[in-house]
Amino acid sequence: MEFFKGDKGDKVDKVYKVKQITSLYETCNGCGLPIINCICDKSPKVSTRAQFWILSSEREFYRPSNTARLIKLINPDSTEIFQWERTKIPTELIKNIDMEDYTTFVVFPAENEELEKRKVQFELTKKIPAFIILDGTWKEARKIFRKCDFLKSLPIVSIEQNYASDYDLRKGAAEGNLCTIEAAIEILKMNGELDSSQDMDDYYKLFLENYKAGVSGHKVRR
Ligand SMILES: [Zn+2]
Repeated sequence: MEFFKGDKGDKVDKVYKVKQITSLYETCNGCGLPIINCICDKSPKVSTRAQFWILSSEREFYRPSNTARLIKLINPDSTEIFQWERTKIPTELIKNIDMEDYTTFVVFPAENEELEKRKVQFELTKKIPAFIILDGTWKEARKIFRKCDFLKSLPIVSIEQNYASDYDLRKGAAEGNLCTIEAAIEILKMNGELDSSQDMDDYYKLFLENYKAGVSGHKVRR
């Protein structure tokens, strides 16, 4: 499965070969797992009202630990992945932001006073809520946030998590930060889409289990 292929504009139109987490097996480009543990066809399909517009560092497309591709797999109609490039303005994403039907938020921790002022309490409105999630390591996400002028006028939604992240696939992940799919799961709860949130959470747990088994070349039997 090559879900990056065929997107237009600044959406990702190149097929990236996801790196292998084990030398024993090829990686599935759909879910990022070794082919023996591919979970592409185990994905329930949801179609959420909340839109996910994921702005991603290019490096993410090679990383098997990327979780944005899982969001796209389970929620294809409401998820778009855009590639961030330092020298290029993501025109397709900006077009989305300018559309009347949506009210757009950027998901980011209000880590200083200036950002605290831009932080809003999310409320349901008639408009479709769209959430820009910055995808990358914490360092990359911060860089994207800092360099994107078009994000500066958008209200910030911060995820108040009351549990620890289950995401332990990357070294040096800052404590307390959620990974991309965990953020999406919380956003869906916030938007009252509890069933979809649960489906996404179950799928994420399945991914973690298969990833960890895959690192040692084991097949998950079920
Ligand atoms: Zn797969």
